Parts: sequence; C-alpha cells; structure tokens
Amino acid sequence: MKIDVITIFPQYLAPLRLSLVGKAIENQKLSLDVHDLRDHTTDLHRTVDDTPYGGGPGMVMMPEPWGATLDELLNNDSILIIPTPSGVKFDQEMAEQLASKPHLVFACGRYEGIDARVAQYYEKKVTVLEVSIGDYVLAGGEVAAIVMIEAIARLIPGVLGNWDSAVNDSFAETEHGRLLEGPVYTKPAVWRGLGVPEVLLSGNHAEIAKWQIAQAKQRTAIRRPDLTGE
Ligand code: SAM
Repeated sequence: MKIDVITIFPQYLAPLRLSLVGKAIENQKLSLDVHDLRDHTTDLHRTVDDTPYGGGPGMVMMPEPWGATLDELLNNDSILIIPTPSGVKFDQEMAEQLASKPHLVFACGRYEGIDARVAQYYEKKVTVLEVSIGDYVLAGGEVAAIVMIEAIARLIPGVLGNWDSAVNDSFAETEHGRLLEGPVYTKPAVWRGLGVPEVLLSGNHAEIAKWQIAQAKQRTAIRRPDLTGE
C-alpha cells in the first residue's frame, strides 16, 4: 500500500516513522510520503488560507494549492480521505476495508477546513471519503490522519507480528459480532494481593476461550451496548 499525506505541518507526521508503522515502512509493506501543501503555493508568503465567503470567524483553506497538489498525487486507484469532524465516523470496519486498497491520500485541513469545492471536484475522479475520528474538534487533520493510518496499517497482512492479536482485538468481526476485548493479565500470578482469574492458569484452552468470550460479551454489554444493537 502507498499512503500520501498532505499537510502544512509535515513534521507533525514524524511519529509514523516509529514503532509498528515505522517497521512496516522499513519492511516495505507500506510506503509513506508526506507533502507540504505550501510547496504548491505561488505567492511570496506561501499563503494557503483566505477569509470565508459569507463572513464568519476564522479562515478557510484555498482550493488552488490543494488542486495543484492533488492533481500530482491522485490516480485512478486512489482514495482521497479528508479528515473532518463533519465526516462519517471512522471505525474498525472502515479500517479493514481501507487496509486492502492500493493508494490512500490524506488531505489534512487546518483553520475552518478546506474549501468544499475540493471534495466536490475530486468526487468526479476518485473515491472521496470525508471522515471524522470522533465527536470532538481537533486543531488540524494531522492527528486524525495518524489515528487512521495506524489503525489501517496494522491490518495490512504481514504488518502485525502475530495476526491472532488483530483477530482477537476489540471491534474485530467474530461469530459473536464486534465485541470489546475482555481483561488481559500477565505475570506475576499475584500482584499487590490481586490474583489472576483461576481459569487462565488452568491450561485448559477450551475453557479459557469460553471464559474470554463471556468476558468480552459482558464488557460489551456494560460499556458499549450500541455494538450489540441494544
Ligand atoms: N470548523 C470545522 C467544523 O466545525 O467542522 C472544524 C475545523 S478544525 C478546527 C480544523 C481541521 O481539523 C479540520 O479541517 C479537520 O482536518 C481536522 N479535524 C478536527 N476535528 C476532527 C475530527 N473529529 N475528525 C477528523 N478531523 C478533524
């Protein structure tokens, strides 16, 4: 998979060179390029924003630098992802779907967002997804892009050392639906007077699996009844 990120703060994406995603890039499971939107401005001040039509506070990102940058990056196979609080909500199912795509382009907005004609124009050429990572407002799309890229990258085959961990994760599709993962424990067996559930020490894999599913169902029912359709 190839990922391009467009931003006015290229340094913001530096954490993607670390840890799991960084390794995926090193191992060529993923290629990541970050582009400075200001490289496609034409004035001395490298301006990317202007006052909103209709008035109101803040500034809006101008379509010209976006058009010039996107024209260079997009091809027929690309999916253009525009992070915005007014987009459809990002979730594990979307991450799973995007993990099999060849080319994702993230357009990170700042200020009051990107002129709406950018999405409107590119919808005629490629798949455009306006996506929110949650019901709150960030200062820019960079953190949202990092969140999505990390969730997507770990689902690319070969990126996770142990594929089972993705299968057992919260929100993974299972025969019981999409559940939260139950509690997990490691050594020591007793810590500050607190023990580990007996069944996990039993070595009985069938019983352990049964217990884990029951815990996942119980936790989901209490914390996220919406996942079970209730
Ligand atoms: N005025 C916009 C609104 O109310 O919808 C918010 C603009 S926000 C200050 C600036 C940028 O941050 C957005 O263009 C988007 O790229 C990003 N952003 C903020 N919150 C986000 C969220 N929940 N999900 C995805 N992107 C977000």
